[in-house]
Amino acid sequence: MSRKTRDRDPGMGCKITRRDFLNGVAVGAGMGLLGARGALADLATHPEAMTSALQSEKGADASAQEYFLSKGVNQKDANYYPPGLTDMMRGSHPGSFEAAHLLRDHRFWKSAGAPQDTHETYDLVVVGGGISGLAAGYFFRQFAGQDARILILDNHDDFGGHAKRNEFHANGRLLLGYGGTQSIEAPGTYSPQAIGLLRDLGIDVSRFYRYFDRNLYSSLGLKPSVFFDKESFGTDRLLVGAAVQFSDDTEPLPGSRIHEMPIAPAAQQDLLRLIRESINYLPGLTPEQLRTRLIKTSYKGFLLQDAKVHPDVVKVYQKAPHDLYCVGIDAVSALSCRYMGFPGFKGIPMEERRREEKEEPYIFHFPDGNASIARMLVRSLIPGSIPGRTMEDIVTARVSYPRLDRSDSRVRLRLNSPVVRARHRGDPQTAKTVDVTYLQNGKLYTVQGGYCVMACYNCMAPYLCPEMPTWQKEALAYAVKEPLVYTNVQIRNWTAFQKLGTDNVYCPGSYFSNVDLDFPVSLGSYRFPSSPSESCVLHLLRTPCMPGLPCKEQYRAGRMELYTTPFSTFEHNIRAQLGAILGPGGFDPVRDIVAITVNRWPHGYAYEYNPLFEPLGRPASERPCVIGRKPFGRITIANSDSAGRAYTNAAIDQAYRAIQETMAMHAKSESGNSPVSSAIASSLPRV
Ligand SMILES: Cc1cc2nc3c(=O)[nH]c(=O)nc-3n(C[C@H](O)[C@H](O)[C@H](O)COP(=O)(O)OP(=O)(O)OC[C@H]3O[C@@H](n4cnc5c(N)ncnc54)[C@H](O)[C@@H]3O)c2cc1C
Repeated sequence: MSRKTRDRDPGMGCKITRRDFLNGVAVGAGMGLLGARGALADLATHPEAMTSALQSEKGADASAQEYFLSKGVNQKDANYYPPGLTDMMRGSHPGSFEAAHLLRDHRFWKSAGAPQDTHETYDLVVVGGGISGLAAGYFFRQFAGQDARILILDNHDDFGGHAKRNEFHANGRLLLGYGGTQSIEAPGTYSPQAIGLLRDLGIDVSRFYRYFDRNLYSSLGLKPSVFFDKESFGTDRLLVGAAVQFSDDTEPLPGSRIHEMPIAPAAQQDLLRLIRESINYLPGLTPEQLRTRLIKTSYKGFLLQDAKVHPDVVKVYQKAPHDLYCVGIDAVSALSCRYMGFPGFKGIPMEERRREEKEEPYIFHFPDGNASIARMLVRSLIPGSIPGRTMEDIVTARVSYPRLDRSDSRVRLRLNSPVVRARHRGDPQTAKTVDVTYLQNGKLYTVQGGYCVMACYNCMAPYLCPEMPTWQKEALAYAVKEPLVYTNVQIRNWTAFQKLGTDNVYCPGSYFSNVDLDFPVSLGSYRFPSSPSESCVLHLLRTPCMPGLPCKEQYRAGRMELYTTPFSTFEHNIRAQLGAILGPGGFDPVRDIVAITVNRWPHGYAYEYNPLFEPLGRPASERPCVIGRKPFGRITIANSDSAGRAYTNAAIDQAYRAIQETMAMHAKSESGNSPVSSAIASSLPRV
């Protein structure tokens, strides 16, 4: 494809035709004959129709909540079904973050008005319905008993936090994608509480050895590849079998492939040298000095200053750590890159790191990612909300959203409800309850909780609890979450991948750094589209960052980019990039792209204390996340941010710790009872 064609219009103008073709009768006739309400009834039975209805009403940057509300549909309505929304911005969607930003800018309360007291009382109010918040509810109920009354509030239109489910449909067949939290990574390293929780929910991770088809792509001869784009490298070129990392399951990069790379000949020679030759680029250093040097030098610095490679080598590797670090090799230490299998370290005498995760393959994946864990938590917490009882049947089970927040339920989950304040009634040290105020449909409401767990982003807590001590607020505000975008693209079939011989593409110069076929997982009644002739969901990664700046600055700049990039920009880039990569395999973005869901996460991974920018040798107890997560009155703090680790087990472990602290607090409190409810008084252990 010529540059001109790509720039001009890779199918953007074909939206309507495409959707008419797909949904034509259901949507066109439905909207016309039945009117909005009738059409929404139609949407319940044909979730794929939601796409076009929503598009025509509000555009792709609309908030789903706005759309639902404009139709008189809310979480209590049977037609409310966020996982089925496509062709729009998901993840941190419009409507979910504005109140938080007003709070941050100290503008919220100027025009907010007085909250209305709902007179609802709970033993525990949880702020944040991600895995940590849901797990906090779970652990609290475990300790406090089935009668405990719990309210979980979340600002998004769907629960799960980052663990979000995206649904697609192909001729009546359900296709799933993960909008965030991808897999259960290295479950063998999970704490007893975290793995115990998964087991209690019914998840037996060993079954993934059967459910994940590890041979599918290799049996079709598909290999990893690198795509060099014309804008960055002067020509569009897909090099199959040219993986730039060297983990156990990738083949060494053949020299012939390196010579085909559209980079300077000197860079090709340098790359060959890095890969093949055992050269100690840091001679004369003791092992300890070597370690420190590699921790405090970026991989880019190491390549240019120590290995003295041509700058084109840096161009090839720049985005290689994006999926893990959300920044490129300019902001990731050489040591970390060594552990990831990047070349140049063969001749440097260092001990191998003990890598527990190496012992387990990366196969513990539900088709909707860890959204299945969130869904199983909700199923356990709120009986009747999701049918079934196994890890297999959760995959295709449909959530009844109206059942999540019913007055007859001991546990309630309220969506579209950003919390704007959590304030003790009286002195935090002696208060018996916390008033939690949230915004819903433009109005403020207050509920009362015996205890409160902040399972939201840690950086939000100081705005919600302004009376916290300054040292704690500063510690909580220290971390900057790492922004990234998971985009799911449903395509008509994946024959182009088969023809080209690749299943995952690293794109060092392109808008999306990675384009992958999905993990081939089938369980329960869900079948992965294993034949290339079937429609499937592609996974595209973009990590906005600003190379050259310190990593926190890069995260802030990336966040700003994500909040200001409209859906149409993503769509344009998806079409252009897929056309350029897959076009030679017969892929036509106009014909072959069926649906797009952009899951943007301006507040993505928990900040992981990048050693390149953090002090060396700081004791764990002095890390800001440890200081910040201390209980404040009756408020405890969960979320993976509290661990400084962006992992599901961290989210669960932090929930467990927060509930342990709650229990200890309760047992120590003078009366041992909350005036809100007696449920927990009778069941919590006393210390
Ligand atoms: C794209 C992506 C991929 C990932 N992949 C993996 C993976 O493969 N494996 C893995 O282990 N981990 C992965 N992670 C890390 C993931 O974040 C954790 O695994 C875990 O899901 C975090 O859960 P959490 O509950 O701590 O936080 P979150 O999931 O962020 O949940 C917190 C919730 O609180 C809400 N909230 C914030 N402020 C408020 C407020 N004021 N009022 C109400 N609600 C509020 C948030 O919007 C959110 O819904 C991934 C993360 C991202 C972003």
